[in-house]
Amino acid sequence: MKTVIMAGGKGTRISELFPDIPKPLIPISNGIDTKPVLEWEICSLRDQGFKDIILTVSHMADKIMDCFGDGSRLGTNIEYFIEDKPLGNAGALFKLREKLDSDFLLLNADAVFEVDFNRMVKYHQETRAQVTLFTHPNNHPYDSGLIIADDNKQVQSWLAKEDNRPTYYKNRVNAGLHIINPKVLDEVNIDIKKIGTEDENGKTIKVDLDRQILKPLCNTGKMFCYDSPEYVKDMGTPERYKQVCQDFEYGIVQAKSLSNKQKAIFLDRDGTINKYVGFLRDIEEFELIDGVTEAIKLINASGYLCIVVTNQPVIARGEVTVPELTEIHNKMETLLGQRGAYIDSLYYCPHHPHKGYEGEIPELKIDCECRKPKPGMILKAAEDFNIDLQSSWMIGDGESDVLTGENAGCKTVLLTNENLLEAVKKIFG
Ligand SMILES: [Zn+2]
Repeated sequence: MKTVIMAGGKGTRISELFPDIPKPLIPISNGIDTKPVLEWEICSLRDQGFKDIILTVSHMADKIMDCFGDGSRLGTNIEYFIEDKPLGNAGALFKLREKLDSDFLLLNADAVFEVDFNRMVKYHQETRAQVTLFTHPNNHPYDSGLIIADDNKQVQSWLAKEDNRPTYYKNRVNAGLHIINPKVLDEVNIDIKKIGTEDENGKTIKVDLDRQILKPLCNTGKMFCYDSPEYVKDMGTPERYKQVCQDFEYGIVQAKSLSNKQKAIFLDRDGTINKYVGFLRDIEEFELIDGVTEAIKLINASGYLCIVVTNQPVIARGEVTVPELTEIHNKMETLLGQRGAYIDSLYYCPHHPHKGYEGEIPELKIDCECRKPKPGMILKAAEDFNIDLQSSWMIGDGESDVLTGENAGCKTVLLTNENLLEAVKKIFG
């Protein structure tokens, strides 16, 4: 699979720190070696088998080309597309169309990332998507571009920062990494021949990737999102650069690649995250417990994944519908996100073993493998995110949570007199 990396950006704010070098060449250290950020990324791609790379360059193109040459120094094959005049971030794709004969990775050189791309490619192939967007939760979803998808992860809408958003939404942000089938370039509603020419006002006709190519694919069934907790962060401002450098030096960026074993903290929901009200049926009754946001922020900063596992027999009992439950979880993610905390994933068991009640959904009235204290949800998460269960924790307010953790081979904490924040602080010492 070919990889196209958009390396033409100017990086205006970060250039305060590095006025003489283009953003992709900004140095970053892992504590042993210091290399340009793009070089780390190319090496990571190479190590995963992605050796055919096309760089689209514009701003300080010479410096980038001098650094990487034909790619042989790094054991890769690098070609360039030089934009003499800006074509927008996707204009180059049309000029490169003949070289793009099958699905390709399209990456943004503005971000620092370490991603198991083969895992993403596998997902892309399984869903038979035309486009797969890499999406992740972040600690400022309220001012990030949001992706809204259905339960099968087909993208339904794409909300920019300034667009109105629903009251409650899943913390799912577009990270700027994509797998694209080049056929979508042939189907866009723009006059491809005019790209790079001047319009009647003398302005160069450009193409914007998000607005003109990807957003029109919402609700067509052709575009899916790939939810991943892996590290992808923009380093466009001096503050973000500092954070990314620190994370890189401490190995946090690299460790979060799903090719490495992950550690997780699994959390129960009712009585652990939100106030216990018995079976929660009404979204108005969902309230976070004091200290939960701080606890989850600590988990987020620790490098552990934060994953919720919850029994929701209200679904089998016919008391809450799946869309209603989704909305309750959206409320949870929105409340956490407002204060900079996020969960990496959530699993729920909709089943219940006892039949014979009015209004129940018979096909969910089964003795399943996921209802706690069975470990099914944790085992599924371990498979989805390559989690080492022995170094992971299950925290909850019920004996059944502790049993679930034990059945999955995790360490456990039973919340009795302490709250989640105190428990998490103890784990991290
Ligand atoms: Zn179940």
